[in-house]
Amino acid sequence: MFLPQEIVRKKRDRHALTDAEIAAFVQGITQGQVTDSQISALAMAVYFNDMTIPERVAMTKAMRDSGQVLEWRSLNLPGPVVDKHSTGGVGDLTSLLLGPMVAACGGYVPMISGRGLGHTGGTLDKFNAIPGYNTAPDIDTLRRVVREIGVAIIGQTAQLAPADKRIYAVRDVTATVESVAMITASILSKKLSAGLDALVMDVKVGSGAFMPTYDKSVELAESIVSVGNGAGMKTAALLTDMNQSLAPCAGNAIEVRCAIDYLTGKSRPARLHEVTMALAARMLLVGGLAKDDAEAHQKLQASLDSGAAAERFARMVTGLGGPADLLEAPDRYLEAAPVIVPIKVPTAGYVSTVDCRALGLVVVSLGGGRYRPEDNIDYAVGLSELAELGQRVEAGQTLAVVHARSEAAAQAAVASVQAAYQLAAEAPQLPSVVYRDIS
Ligand code: URA
Repeated sequence: MFLPQEIVRKKRDRHALTDAEIAAFVQGITQGQVTDSQISALAMAVYFNDMTIPERVAMTKAMRDSGQVLEWRSLNLPGPVVDKHSTGGVGDLTSLLLGPMVAACGGYVPMISGRGLGHTGGTLDKFNAIPGYNTAPDIDTLRRVVREIGVAIIGQTAQLAPADKRIYAVRDVTATVESVAMITASILSKKLSAGLDALVMDVKVGSGAFMPTYDKSVELAESIVSVGNGAGMKTAALLTDMNQSLAPCAGNAIEVRCAIDYLTGKSRPARLHEVTMALAARMLLVGGLAKDDAEAHQKLQASLDSGAAAERFARMVTGLGGPADLLEAPDRYLEAAPVIVPIKVPTAGYVSTVDCRALGLVVVSLGGGRYRPEDNIDYAVGLSELAELGQRVEAGQTLAVVHARSEAAAQAAVASVQAAYQLAAEAPQLPSVVYRDIS
C-alpha cells in the first residue's frame, strides 16, 4: 500500500529514496492522494537531508511525467530541438534575441517561458507587452510555428509538469525553496516536458541573482548539468554576471524595444551581446549545429548581419498573432510611459557598485512586476540608459532614466535608483561577464 508518510519518514531518517518511491509520491501529488502537509514535510526533509543525483533524476522524470510531454520527432525536423533557461535576472532579454538567432542557424526553439518572479523580469511578460501576440496558443499552433519559423516563445500551460505547480506553491510558503535538489527538479521537469533534445542553462551570479553566493550558483549549475544529462537531455550551463542589469534598460515594453534595436543592428550593448552570443553558441554546440565555439560565433554573427535573426523574430511575432510591422514601427505598438524623468548625478565619479536586486525591485514598484500573483502589469514602465559598473559619470550627466505612470511613482523610483548606485573617485575592478562554462 502507498503511504506517503513512510516515504517522508525514510527521507527524514536520511535514506535515499528509490525511483519507485519517488514516482509514487509525485503521482500521489498529481492525483490528490498526497496532502499539502505531506508535500511540505517531504520538502523540509529534502531541504535538510538532500537528494543524491539519482534521486534528483527520478524526481525530475516523475515531475515531467505528471503531465503532457511535448513530442517533436513526428515532425521530422531537420535540426535539434534546443532551448535556454535562466535562473532569472534584471534587464535580461537574451531569450528574445537568441531564440531567433539559433532558429536562423538551423535549431528549433520551443521556448516555454515564465512570468517575472520577485525582483526578476519574465520573458512571458515581455511578449505580453506586444499587442495581439498570443503567449498561450493551442498545441497545433505552437507546433506549426516551431516547424515553419524555428522559434516560438510562449507561456507555461497547466498541462506541462503540473506536479511542479503544486510542489512549488507549497515550497514557497514553507521556507523550502532554497534546496538545490528541488530547484533542479522544478526547472528541469518543466524543460523536459517541452521535449527538448538539449538545454543550455544560464545560472546568474551576483547582487541580482536568485542564488545567494557564487558557490551556490556553481552547485546549482553542476546539479542541473548532471541531472539534465541523467534524464536524457544534453545539458550545459554557463555562469554569468548579474551584479548589474544585463541590458542598459529594464521593463517589459522597454526591453522589447531594446531587442528590436539589437536584432536590427541599431544598438548592441556590449555585455548583452557577449552573454547572448555565449549562450547561443553553447546552444549550437549542444545541438550539434557547430563544431566549435569559433564556428558557432561566426554563424550567429552572420544571422545578425544578414538580418536573418530579425526576420525570424518578425515572423514569430506575426505567426503568434502580433503586428506584421512591429520591427519597422515599434512605437505604433509598444506603449510608452507618460512620465519620463532623467536622474542626474550631482558630483562626478565612477560607478563602483550597483544593487542589482534593488533596481529590479524599482521596476516592480513602478508597476512593471507583481507583488501578488493576480496583479496586472504595466508594460510601459521601467528604467533605461542605466549607467554601467566602471562607467565615468560627470556632474549633471544621466545615471538612469525612469519611465513611470505618475509623477509620484517617478519620484519614489528616482530615490530608489539613486540609493542603488554608489559612485567612487577610482574606477572599480570590473566583474567578468561570463564566469564559467560547466558541462
Ligand atoms: N525557478 C523554478 O522554476 N523553480 C524553482 O524551484 C526555483 C526557480
